[in-house]
This record gives sequence, C-alpha cells and structure tokens, in this order.
Amino acid sequence: MARLIFITGGVVSSLGKGLASAALGALLQARGYKVRLRKLDPYLNVDPGTMSPFQHGEVYVTDDGAETDLDLGHYERFTAVSSARADNVTSGKIYQQVIEKERRGEYLGRTVQVIPHVTDMIKEFILAGSDGVDFLLCEIGGTVGDIEGLPFFEAIRQLGNDLGRDNHAFVHLTLVPYLGAAGELKTKPTQHSVKELRAIGIQPDILLCRAEKPIPDDERRKIGLFCNVPAQRVIPALDLPTIYQAPQAYHQVGFDTELLKVFGIHDAPQPDLSKWQWVVDRVKNPEGEVRIAVVGKYMQVKDSYKSLSEALAHGGLANNVKVTLEMIDSEIFERDDAAAFLENVNGILVPGGFGERGVEGKIQAVKFARERQVPFFGICYGLHMAVIETARDLAGLEGAGTTENGRPRHPVISLMTEWVKGNQLETRTESTDLGGTMRLGAYPAVLTPGSRVAEVYGRNEISERHRHRYEVNVNYVKHLAEHGLVVSGWSPDGRLPEIMEIPNHPWFIGVQFHPELKSRPFDPHPLFRSFIAAAVKQGRLV
Ligand code: GLN
Repeated sequence: MARLIFITGGVVSSLGKGLASAALGALLQARGYKVRLRKLDPYLNVDPGTMSPFQHGEVYVTDDGAETDLDLGHYERFTAVSSARADNVTSGKIYQQVIEKERRGEYLGRTVQVIPHVTDMIKEFILAGSDGVDFLLCEIGGTVGDIEGLPFFEAIRQLGNDLGRDNHAFVHLTLVPYLGAAGELKTKPTQHSVKELRAIGIQPDILLCRAEKPIPDDERRKIGLFCNVPAQRVIPALDLPTIYQAPQAYHQVGFDTELLKVFGIHDAPQPDLSKWQWVVDRVKNPEGEVRIAVVGKYMQVKDSYKSLSEALAHGGLANNVKVTLEMIDSEIFERDDAAAFLENVNGILVPGGFGERGVEGKIQAVKFARERQVPFFGICYGLHMAVIETARDLAGLEGAGTTENGRPRHPVISLMTEWVKGNQLETRTESTDLGGTMRLGAYPAVLTPGSRVAEVYGRNEISERHRHRYEVNVNYVKHLAEHGLVVSGWSPDGRLPEIMEIPNHPWFIGVQFHPELKSRPFDPHPLFRSFIAAAVKQGRLV
C-alpha cells in the first residue's frame, strides 16, 4: 500500500503549495520511488470547469477528460505522471456523492453527518487507486482554519491514525515573513498556524517555511521548539530564480532525507537530479531571447494561462533562448492600430478562450501575423479566430464567424451535436448544461503526411487534450483550402478538423486542442519547440 504524505498550508494562501508538492514528488521520483499526486479542494463547485479564470486561474484538463485544479498541471510538469479524474476532488463532489448515496437509501436509515459520512467519503477518495504507488502526495487546498476545509483536515487526521506511524507524514507549508522596519524574520505566524493545526489534532512532522531571506539556525530552533518539531525538520524554502530549481533546492536543505526518516526510511538511494540540472542550466544560460505576444482575454490574472506560459518557456529551453511574453488584452486592437503593439514581437499566439468580448481584437492579431509573415500559433479559440480571419479576408466570406457569438452569415465555426468518443456516441445541444458538456480530454488525431505538423511531431498519429464546444465547420473546409488554409490533422473518423495550417507562411498553425497541457520542462512539446524555433528564425530576419 502507498505511504501517504499530506501537504497542508497556513498563514496565507498563494505560498505555492502546489509547486512545493510537485517538486517534492519529483524529488522522491528522482530517488526511484513511484509517486502520485492528488489535490483536495474545499470549495463547493463540483469541479472548477464552471469557474471564471479570473476567479480560479486556468482549468487543467486530464487525459480522461476531467476539468481540474491548475495544481495538477504543476504535478504533471514536475513528475510527467498523467493525472486522472480521481486526482482532484472538491467538497462539492464529495457532498454530491454523499447526498446521492443518501437518496438511494444506502445509509440504511441513519442520520447522515459530516463525521463520519462526509469524512469517510473523503478518505475513500484519497485512498482509491493508490496501489502500486510508493508515495501518494495529497495536497489540501486553502489554509488551515478555513471553515470549509475542516472536514478534509478531520479526514486526514483520521487517516493518520488508520495508517499508523510509518505510513504517513504531515507536511505543513507556512510563511516566515521579513519585516523590513524591524530588520527581522518573524516566526509568530508560523507558530499560530501550527497551533491551529494541532487544535484539530494534527501534529506536523515537517514544516516547510517560505521565506525571502535565509532562516538562521537559531530561528529554526525557535520555530521547532514552539511547534514541537525537531529543528532539522524546519525546512527553509527560499524564493528561487526558477521554480524548476525546487527539487534540487529541497534536496540541499535535507527535505527529502528528513521526510523519508519520518517513514523510518534511512537507506534510500541518493536522488538522480541530472535532468533538473539540465533544466536549471538552460534557464540560467540562454543564448538569446525571443518576444512572444499572447493576445487573449484573461490577462490580469497570472495563473489564467499557467500551462501556456510554462509550455512557451519549455519551447525556449529546447531552443536555448529566453522567452519573454507580452500578455496583451485583445480588446486593445479594437480601439487602436494593432501594428504598434505587435511590431516588435517574434511570434504571436492566440490562446483558448470563451465568449464574445475581445474577439474582433484577436482576429486583428491573426491578420497582422498572417499578412506580416510573423509566426502564428492559434490554440482552440485561437484556431477559431484564425479560421474566421482567413474566411473573411482571404476566402471572401464576409460575415464569417462562430455560432458561439450569435448567428453569423457564414458559420465557419459551429456547434457539433454529435461525436464519437472511444466507441460511444456523445451528444450535446445549445441548451445542454454548461458544466461538463464540452468535448473534453484526450482524443487521437491523424496528421496529413507531408504537412508541417507531421514534420513537427515526427509522426502521423497523435493524442492531445481538448476542452471546447465548437468546431471548425467541415462544410467550409474545401473552400478555405482553396484560399490557403488547409486541414492537416483530422479526427480518425475524418469528421472533425483538429489542425489547420497555411503552408505558404513561415509558421501558421492552429490547433483545436490544448498542447500546452502536455509539455514538460525536460520534454518540451513539439509544437512549442517548433513555434519558438520559428520565432528565433524570425528574430534573425528583423
Ligand atoms: N470557446 C470555444 C469553444 O467552446 C473555445 C474553447 C477554448 O478555447 N478552450 O469551442
């Protein structure tokens, strides 16, 4: 059975608990252990699929079609272990299951309560499918003390008892702030946070302390004393020049060694961190720089395009260049001349998105890229924008648009009402619920031999993850091809265009899926590798 590591957070949110969990997972993996990571989110939405990126950041999609928390993206980028639906659960989903079970009469007349019924359901989720894994890392969203998080904390407290001393560890992430005026690091918030944790019966085994300045040994001892943790298990986690340095940095301060000791493991092999060394060396020593404009909608929130900005950075690692992103709100192009903003970039990317706002601006950005021969990458909604722009400007289809935003004269993008997943027929209509009714998860695609994408991937069959309702309308495909925009990737049944490109452009590719979800720092996605290579080439031309 898997050993469990529970990762909780205190003091403030946004300390990077997801990243810390992911980096710890990678570090244990580097020691030869098999790991799996899970996230428990205390909010009441059944999944984050219906939440605005402004609220929640990116929605990460798994191969098996779950819409999940963006921390699962960190887990995958650090460990390359594909996450699944079972790796993210919310209070909403837990309560939904409990209530459904109650309605079926399966509680046999008993009063249904948070303890034990909700907590039992949480425990079931945590333990499901963990066979064959050495360490299951389980991150609890939010911070200790949040009302909605209580059932989760209670469930992991109980699990600690159920599993026994050598089979679980509690890691608590806190903040040790530096007060400039006093010139001191402050340990009190950490003491309070641990007090809160102990009040609900959890004694942390390891404290991971985020700090912007090194924590002197005296302070580590003091934290340890007040929090009932040995000083060597008070692990400083300082800000790093790149997140990908975290596995090495954690190892240097003994995080993994101490954690393994909690499990009674004293003779584990040393970690092989060579692939992380490669990543860190590449980040620190780029040979050049490219500027990429990302023209989208959710620009104020850094996390809205998390996987995308990481995948672009990975493309930079593959080409040994630093990738600087210009995050541009597409609405700007509806007011001003687009040129001024795009004149100095080496590539333009229009990412995924929903709804009408900013659409015409995105179309302007596509036009600029197409006419000025700037490398262009359209992802999902970005592909839709590319199709609309070429339909209008190249193919003479005035009034071309998407049925997502009304009733255009030429619906070049429209709703598919039926499609095949595996051997099952899936259906949807305009009025189907918004939650979970999209084409979601991994679908195969067949690439046209000789096309640019076939060359980029180096093979003719691929599998990529989707999250969308609308599709390129096949009825327009022939007409668009006659004017230069061709389909170069199809669903295996030949019904859904998955990739389109303009062959006589330096690099103009639109994809219906989200390739950014499958890029890893040590294994950059072929499309991002190739897009950045094209941007590097373009940079040399100007
Ligand atoms: N809004 C579009 C659709 O639903 C694209 C979605 C996306 O970009 N992920 O089809």
